[in-house]
Parts: sequence; C-alpha cells; structure tokens
Amino acid sequence: MKYPFLNSLDSNHPYAAEIEDAVLRVVRSGRYIGGEEVERFELTLASHAHTPYAVGVSNGLDALRLIFRSLVIMGRVAEGDEVIVPANTYIASILAIIDAGLKPVFAEPSLDTLNLDTTRLGEYITPRTRAILTVHLYGRPCFDESMKQFAEQNDLIIIEDNAQAIGAQAPVAGMSADTTTGGLGLAAAFSFYPTKNIGAMGDAGAVATHDRELADTVRALANYGSDRRYHNIYTGFNCRLDPIQAAILAVKLPHVDEESNYRDTLARTYINNIHNDAIILPSPPDRGTHVWHQFVVRVNAATTDLSVNKKSSRHHLRQYLDDNGVGTDVHYATPPHRQPALEPYSTLNLPITDTIADTVISLPITRTTIPDDALAIASIINGYRK
Ligand SMILES: *Cc1c(COP(=O)(O)O)cnc(C)c1O
Repeated sequence: MKYPFLNSLDSNHPYAAEIEDAVLRVVRSGRYIGGEEVERFELTLASHAHTPYAVGVSNGLDALRLIFRSLVIMGRVAEGDEVIVPANTYIASILAIIDAGLKPVFAEPSLDTLNLDTTRLGEYITPRTRAILTVHLYGRPCFDESMKQFAEQNDLIIIEDNAQAIGAQAPVAGMSADTTTGGLGLAAAFSFYPTKNIGAMGDAGAVATHDRELADTVRALANYGSDRRYHNIYTGFNCRLDPIQAAILAVKLPHVDEESNYRDTLARTYINNIHNDAIILPSPPDRGTHVWHQFVVRVNAATTDLSVNKKSSRHHLRQYLDDNGVGTDVHYATPPHRQPALEPYSTLNLPITDTIADTVISLPITRTTIPDDALAIASIINGYRK
C-alpha cells in the first residue's frame, strides 16, 4: 500500500531513542508495579488536562468502568439510573455504563459534527437521568454552552470519554475555566491504545477528575479495592497502569500539541484540496479545536444512484481507493445498538446513527502520512467517479 492507513511503528519513530531509554530505565529500576514512573505520568497528565487529580489505569474501557463504578459506590448515581450517550460512539462507552448497572440512553448525533446533537438533549431526559457521557468522537470536542446549561438545569453529572480527543479545546464562549478536553466535566477517561493520538506500546489509560473522592475511589477500585496495603474497602479489580507504559507515555505526552498541529495540517490539506460531490468532508469547528484522531468523510448517498444502497457506494469508493494505494478504515460500520451483545437495544429507532454507520470512511491522518501524500490522496479522490 503506497499510502497506508496507519503504521504504529513509524508513528513512534520521532520518539524511538527516548522511548528506548525510558523502557530500559524501568527494566533496570526493579520497580515493575506503580512507583515514580506512574506518579510522574499522572502529574503530567493532570497538569495537561487542568484537573487536580489523574489516576493511571490499565486501558480506556477500564477508565470509564472505574468512573461509573465509583459514582455508584459514592452514592452519586444508583443502579438503574440513566446516562445519555451518543449512539454512534465506540462500544466501550456503552459497555462501561452497563457494567456499573446503569442504563445507556442512546442519543442521536448531528450529521454535521458526527457528535452528540447538544440541541436535542431534552428529548432523552427522564426522571432517572443522572449523567451525560459525552464522547469527543474522532477528536472533535462535544461540549458547549447548551450542554453545560442543560446539565446544570437538570442536575446532571458530565463525564467525558476523551479516548479520541486529548488536548482539544472545546468551543465554550466566555468560559473562564480552561476549555481543554479531559477537564470539562466531573471526570474524564483517557485511552492510550497504540493507535490513539498519544499511544502507548500496549494497553494503557487514565482517569482525570476535579473530585478528590472520585480520584481516591478510582485508585482504590483499580487496586483490588484497597485503600492501603492489605486493607480492602471495596470488592475491586486490578486495573493498574504498567510503569513501562507510563514511562513511554511520559515521553510522548509533552508532544501532544505538536502531534495535533501536524494532524491539523493534514486535515486542512484534505479539506482544501478534495473537491468531489460524491464525498462529504468534515468541517473544522468555528470555535475551539479539533485534534483529528480520525479524518472521517462520508459518501454522499444523495448523489448516488438510488438502485445502489449506501453501504455499496462506500464499498465502491473504498475499493477504488484501495486500487489506488490508499489505505482506509471505517469507524464504525456497526453501531453499538446493532451489535449482538446489545440485542435489547436493537429495536431503537436511530436513523442518523444508522446513516453515519453506513456512510463513513476514515482517511490516513497519522505521522506516517506527509502533506504531499495528503495532496496525492486528495487528487486520487478527485478522480473518483461513482
Ligand atoms: C479507544 C476507545 C475506548 C477504549 O479504550 P481502550 O484503551 O481501547 O480500552 C473508549 N472509548 C472510545 C471513544 C475509544 O475510541
């Protein structure tokens, strides 16, 4: 493939020497669980997210699970309470809500932002609604005045799934506090899965929060429910962050804004150079920033022959790109409510979510793509005829 979708090895290339030093330092330290590597990373992350607390954990799903389980333990939510969540998210967001005994309420996204439609939140409120799990999908922040107001008026907790948008700035006019994702609500989950904007070399995640009690509960739950050695206050888990991953992440985290700027250059190259009615481009937000975890275009079903369904027009475009050496992916072809595991939700009517799932295609947008590649890919796309 001339223009691969992703190459994790090459993406780490700029940091290779520093990462090797960091890993060797842990190997030679003899300290393989917790310790100063993890503590240092947690401090760096907290300062980056502008939260007083950060807890390194095993992965992004566990970060979300630990947040919701902690809210239950702390009595801030009760079993059966409802959490509004975008229906087009990655399934992990939903799994975490269900894992804590809470009920996901699938909300439709907006076709413009591909994020939760913050103007439609009122449609999903019931007497049992307690929280919103906002997901900054593809790197675009999903938090604004209308969500903030809605949460305040209805006394809802805002939790962020920040797996895809580390370092993005939310479009909140006149908000005096910092607007960086990860510090916008009560708590946020981060994933450092290798393909995320800041990726580890294995699984890793974190929770950032403004709430001391939540931070302490997450930390204890992630360590067998233990608040001090051999003293267990909860029936917990082992969800700790590996110090080797922490050391790797501490090398990469200070470069997060640089990485995002690089992605933004590629995104703008695509946006300024792709001109084809068969493709709907994402539009960058007019306020705040987008960190482009994925560059997601949609096939324009409206311009397609009606005898051809949406999925087959996507397949057709992907095949064309593949034939021309452009690697693509689909995030995500099957929305959570259509997965066999979530069969009880399969009767929900979510037409926008279904349309998105049927039409999205992700183009290459990582370190391994250079701006000239993005230009070449744009010109290949411009040559596409349905
Ligand atoms: C990656 C991801 C997760 C899960 O993170 P893992 O580290 O893979 O467990 C959760 N939510 C979203 C939106 C993600 O993209």
